[in-house]
Amino acid sequence: MSIKVVKFGGSSLADAEQFKKVRDIITADSDRRFVVPSAPGKRFSGDTKVTDMLYECYSMAKEGADIDEHFAKVIERYNLIIEGLGLDFDLSDEFNHIKWAFMHHAGRDYAASRGEYLNGLILAKYMGFDFIDPARYVKFADNGSFDSEITNELLSAELKKHEYAVIPGFYGGMPNGTIKTFSRGGSDITGSIVARAAEADIYENWTDVNGFLMADPRIVESPKEIKYITYRELRELSYMGASVLHEDAIFPVRVAGIPINIRNTNNTTAPGTMIVPHTDVYDADRVITGIAGKKGFSVITIEKAMMNAEKGFGRKVLEAIEKENLSFEHLPSGIDTMCVVLNSAEVASCREKLIERITQAVAPDSITIDDGLALVAVVGRAMVKAKGTASRVFKAVAECDINIRMIDQGSSELNIILGVDESDFEKAMRAIYGEFISA
Ligand code: ASP
Repeated sequence: MSIKVVKFGGSSLADAEQFKKVRDIITADSDRRFVVPSAPGKRFSGDTKVTDMLYECYSMAKEGADIDEHFAKVIERYNLIIEGLGLDFDLSDEFNHIKWAFMHHAGRDYAASRGEYLNGLILAKYMGFDFIDPARYVKFADNGSFDSEITNELLSAELKKHEYAVIPGFYGGMPNGTIKTFSRGGSDITGSIVARAAEADIYENWTDVNGFLMADPRIVESPKEIKYITYRELRELSYMGASVLHEDAIFPVRVAGIPINIRNTNNTTAPGTMIVPHTDVYDADRVITGIAGKKGFSVITIEKAMMNAEKGFGRKVLEAIEKENLSFEHLPSGIDTMCVVLNSAEVASCREKLIERITQAVAPDSITIDDGLALVAVVGRAMVKAKGTASRVFKAVAECDINIRMIDQGSSELNIILGVDESDFEKAMRAIYGEFISA
């Protein structure tokens, strides 16, 4: 018997009707043994996610305001689900306990985590599954970082005791017993942690889209879905802004080589996207796997005659950047020029100081910082085999009269990164997509 870990996002568990779909999905396959729920999400556009309602209650309680009315709305969300499912289940004690904690300075993370906790209790009851509280098994270190090894040890031992169980997403416990959450969208990470601990054959991540798209649908019209993508490709695309899965969700399953399948709760017949360690699946029509990009970058250009012969030049520049507590994105360089691409928002607070530090460190002939750069990443494992991919990217962009300000191709040939003016960003994305993917 194989083991499947299934995670359901907030929209998949937003109300009783969605819960019913989730039950059907779980019962359709007896291998779906460990279930990780998010908190109830939006039921319609303009609705509020329970997690946001809880953050609001926390802020109000912190300021000493009366949270009665706001907390009653949270209670109502859960009671509507319980009633809609026809469950004989009374969570009043839990609600009273949580409200009491809010009014007595419970932490912000505790407040947010109750969304998943309560939803997990309801789902476990509805499915007749055991309930495992991650506060006891998903562990963070004293400095707040996730402790993957201790977690894996504790959680795998615990999972062995259960045939079927619900483990709420998003939170775990600190060594001092308080609750800590991952960053927003972090139930994806819990799903991945549970998949690793269960030594699952697959981690199914159920959401409300048919899969990972090749480009941002707000920029490119009806982009195609990606059928297969490797962890590394996904990491490149997520880092450059593509979202569906939390960017840290890859790490736990990656260690264990477990594939992730993105599926749609509202369209169960769609196969979704498979995220795999390696694949030999190369679709001749898909030289590129996806395109993603971000605005908001700045380039520092440093020029100095004979730079190439000066030992330690690059190190000194990077040291100056490190001293300002900045991390750099790219480092395209020439013989007598060195460019460093940084996040503009981070540079804003230390611009003058940074120029001063670099000037002191390497006495350049000139140093400038230019803002308004957008980066576009064209990602694809098949590029390494397909000659002429770079020229097709550049041709597509040039034909739209777009000036390329920077080019960076990693030696792994997994991606080509272009820097263009922010005003050309959307146009460049559409041009590259159109070059590789026919309508
Ligand atoms: N409920 C949390 C959030 O809204 C975590 C999650 O849904 O993954 O961010």
